[in-house]
Amino acid sequence: MSLPSWEKIIDPNFINAELIGDVGAERVVTIKDIDMAECYDDQSKAKVQKQTVFFEECKPMVLNKTNAKTLKKLFSPNSDNPADSFGHKVILRVESVKAFGKVTTGIRIHEFSEETCPVCGKVIMPYAGKTVQEIMDISKRNLGQVMCGECMKNKAKEKKDAE
Ligand SMILES: [Zn+2]
Repeated sequence: MSLPSWEKIIDPNFINAELIGDVGAERVVTIKDIDMAECYDDQSKAKVQKQTVFFEECKPMVLNKTNAKTLKKLFSPNSDNPADSFGHKVILRVESVKAFGKVTTGIRIHEFSEETCPVCGKVIMPYAGKTVQEIMDISKRNLGQVMCGECMKNKAKEKKDAE
């Protein structure tokens, strides 16, 4: 049996990439709360208080700037209230991230959607920096039909070629 990483041994109260899986692994979770929590800080080697996001389904996660920005974009585009995200589902995805000049794995929050594209039948995903809702609005407005980003790109090209 292999040993867990130090990160996991030192701070077993938080979810981390190893607990979800390899790069690309995903987990759907529901946001319950955002609050300060005590965690081990690798740089200062001390217990510190950090903003943390709590989930219904698993251990909490320290909320870094990137993920906080994602939550603001998804749930508070026109307000400044972190509580807007409570009760919403998101996807936690393991990704290669660069931290302090080193490539490591981290967890990134992504929009969760159950909307499927009527053209290709796949679940509509965030696309080219746009949220699922934005993709749906843009395709409806520009092409008269809701579809995913990829199909929207193809349809726009077809339309342009036909002109
Ligand atoms: Zn599609």
